[in-house]
Amino acid sequence: MSSLDEALRAELDRIRMAGLHRSLNPIDSPQGPIVNFNGKPLLNFSSNDYLGLANHPALKEGAIEAIQRCGAGTGASRLVCGSSGIHHQLEEALADFKRSPAALTFSSGYSTALGTICALLTKRDVILLDKLVHASIVDAARLSGATIRVFPHNNLEAFERLLQWADSRNSRPASNPRPRTLAVVESVYSMDGDRAPLPRMVELKDKYGAWLMVDEAHATGVLGPGGRGLGDETGVSDRIDIQMGTLGKALGAAGGFICGTSRLIEYLVNRARSFIFSTAPVPAAAGAALAAVQLVQSAEGSRRRESLWARVRQAASGLGHKEPASAILPMIIGDESAAVQISRRLRDEGFLIPAIRFPTVARGQARLRLTLTAAHDAGMVDRVVSALSGKH
Ligand SMILES: *Cc1c(COP(=O)(O)O)cnc(C)c1O
Repeated sequence: MSSLDEALRAELDRIRMAGLHRSLNPIDSPQGPIVNFNGKPLLNFSSNDYLGLANHPALKEGAIEAIQRCGAGTGASRLVCGSSGIHHQLEEALADFKRSPAALTFSSGYSTALGTICALLTKRDVILLDKLVHASIVDAARLSGATIRVFPHNNLEAFERLLQWADSRNSRPASNPRPRTLAVVESVYSMDGDRAPLPRMVELKDKYGAWLMVDEAHATGVLGPGGRGLGDETGVSDRIDIQMGTLGKALGAAGGFICGTSRLIEYLVNRARSFIFSTAPVPAAAGAALAAVQLVQSAEGSRRRESLWARVRQAASGLGHKEPASAILPMIIGDESAAVQISRRLRDEGFLIPAIRFPTVARGQARLRLTLTAAHDAGMVDRVVSALSGKH
């Protein structure tokens, strides 16, 4: 055995021993409430395709049209010769959707967070993170070199103390140019399904002169009028400096985006390395996303949001969750191996509900993460509620 192979075998053994080993399972069907998982049809409660758009005819049509008009590949990065008409159309549609002056798309949500945060901060700056932000934001904060401070999840007092600390640190006379403070939160937290107190956070960041970036990955298409997100629902979207979203969840395609001022977008085009040094997303992804942005704002989009929320309320009441805040209903198990066992038993019974473990969530906080979509019907939700009863 080579020394690399030997080192990897030992590391994989440790991962297995800790109940944290993972592997890929081929899905041999389009996304939907029933997927063909390893050759077996399962009722799918694990997807972020909240509005059931990933296999929607309008998105497939959008992708096909984009391929016919712009081709299969893009040939280069956006700044070289890969900036297809479809990317510009999508960005205009996103800016319009979010009622924002401008938008920029990236090839994934992960690269959106990485490129944006690293473009805005240097090692002289401070970044404040909610304890539960997504790995892409944590990685971006580390890569930026800024001083990282983490506050307990949704804790406004701790958030204010950190803003105060950063403000006093940054106002020292020797600090020239003045360092910056960027706070990054999600609007809906991906593994807990709860919401950030955005209006208070906006007031606080304004009070201390910090910038605020809000990742609406799990709220875009799902919350607020027209599905514009929690910022819009709570009336503070125009006070959020950097609005982020993804195209791969409720929007049913793939990619990520930033909405903000034209100057912010112009700056990111010049400075966001994950945007600059990466081949432009394929036209098919942009075409599908464009169709989705139009669909979520239509009457059909509203109907789909209503169905989604009806399913969410049904599942939450069946499982004894009070007041669901999003389409994500976590069931905390704690022990990693126990969570995996329950998930496996559910799979044998015909349900796909993943066990979420470290490092996605903290150690000892393993959980089943149930997600509802507009494509589920009431009977499917009844079945999963009875399957889950008594399992946690
Ligand atoms: C999924 C997710 C991302 C990453 O988006 P991708 O498009 O999947 O790379 C970023 N932030 C949050 C909160 C997410 O849930």
